[in-house]
Amino acid sequence: MGTANTLVFVPEKGIVIQEPSMVAISKLDNKVLAIGKEAKLMIGRTPADIVVYRPLKDGVIADYRVTQAILKYFINQACGFWKFLKPDVIISVPAGSTSTERKAVVDAAREAGAKNTFVVKEPVLAALGAGVPINSASGNMIVNIGGGVAEVAVISLGGVVSWASIRVAGDRFDRAIIDYIKKKYSLTIGERTAEDLKINIGTALPVPEKEKLSMQVRGQDTIEGLPEIKEITSNDIAEALQPHLKEIIQAIKSVLRETPPELAADIIERGMILTGGGALLRNLDDLIYKAISVPTYVSDEPLLCVARGTGIILDNLDIYKRSVQSFR
Ligand code: ADP
Ligand code: MG
Repeated sequence: MGTANTLVFVPEKGIVIQEPSMVAISKLDNKVLAIGKEAKLMIGRTPADIVVYRPLKDGVIADYRVTQAILKYFINQACGFWKFLKPDVIISVPAGSTSTERKAVVDAAREAGAKNTFVVKEPVLAALGAGVPINSASGNMIVNIGGGVAEVAVISLGGVVSWASIRVAGDRFDRAIIDYIKKKYSLTIGERTAEDLKINIGTALPVPEKEKLSMQVRGQDTIEGLPEIKEITSNDIAEALQPHLKEIIQAIKSVLRETPPELAADIIERGMILTGGGALLRNLDDLIYKAISVPTYVSDEPLLCVARGTGIILDNLDIYKRSVQSFR
């Protein structure tokens, strides 16, 4: 359950649900009107009495009732025909969440129909899903960049040794793009357009002329408020994102400083792995390597690592029990 996307992995089936963590709510009677993809389609297009929002802020539950509604909906969908059987559920939580916050997640899952609920820290799941042997006695670094938070963690023997969590991730990138385009082109664009720009033409490092991509975007000019189209290029996005990317690099550096020397030596040798949707930003691995001189790799299918890790743990609870926290 991420701030941007919720995925459900069912043993023997794999990932059966991948939808935005979003709901549309009617303000008049507080009813949930749509969940997931359907809700995301409504962003920026709703009448005044409907709000679309994400119940998870910075990776933890900001709206309990709505989070529970989402969980219930997805758990029911995933269980299909078997929904009268209560499933065991593993949920990822940010490394930086408090035990109260974790308890809230577990309670929501229980009320949504789970039998036993376990929580595992997201960087541990991301590492596992990226193919890292987390139980080995060596240092492995994971940088997981999601929607609301970026987490950097060093994992050894199935546990998190050192970590940092910052509220700079995909959502901030989108806002930085909105602000940059307003300033440079006097054009106001919406969140979805900003995300499209980031995904379609974005890059973490400026690229030479021949590699530049561009996109025509529609918005409103900031003076008259009338519709207008402007052409935006990859390097606009690189420039817009620089300050935030620097913050992520600072977080990586600070975690490396706090890591015991033996483990830090492992990381310098083997490198770090990028996961989460943010890892898909073009040239992010190069930018990090240039700044820190530690080999940097993007995982296979970064958006799916955490869900895959969850599946691996569910199938091998015994082997990974050190990484799992359970609540009674
Ligand atoms: P969370 O775990 O918080 O739900 P995800 O790992 O699912 O987050 O990542 C979602 C974020 O990744 C969003 O901010 C989205 O815009 C961003 N994202 C997805 N694809 C790309 C891409 N190709 N380039 C850059 N960012 C991307
Ligand atoms: Mg995530």
